[in-house]
Amino acid sequence: MNQPAAHDPDCIFCKIVAGKIPSRKVYEDQELLAFHDINPWAPVHFLIIPKEHIESMAHAGARHEALLGRMMVLAPRLALEAGCNPGTAGGFRVLVNNGREGGQEVLHLHMHVMAGPRPWKRG
Ligand code: AMP
Ligand code: ZN
Repeated sequence: MNQPAAHDPDCIFCKIVAGKIPSRKVYEDQELLAFHDINPWAPVHFLIIPKEHIESMAHAGARHEALLGRMMVLAPRLALEAGCNPGTAGGFRVLVNNGREGGQEVLHLHMHVMAGPRPWKRG
């Protein structure tokens, strides 16, 4: 088993990474996991997370630069695969909430990727 470098046994997203809580998987590699949001705001709404437990962007350091870059590059590709409409008329939204006042509920860094025809439930 490939155990990620850091994990928190009480963290819901670490439990998803470990397969202890089911998720509808969109993508997985050694470092990253993407899965559909359980409470979607938009026709397409999934989350990209690092497998490593990093609490938020405020907890990321220089050693995470490549990892965060990979998340950014992956988002448009997975959005298209998940049903995002291409081009200027389509597009997608990327959102990262950080800390309680930043709207973060799950304290494991995650990138929301939302897309699809409007109106959306939120956002
Ligand atoms: P945030 O407010 O940025 O922390 O967003 C957390 C997101 O995680 C919310 O959109 C939730 O709907 C989503 N979420 C919470 N638990 C799960 C789960 N078990 N599977 C998929 N998404 C989840
Ligand atoms: Zn975690």
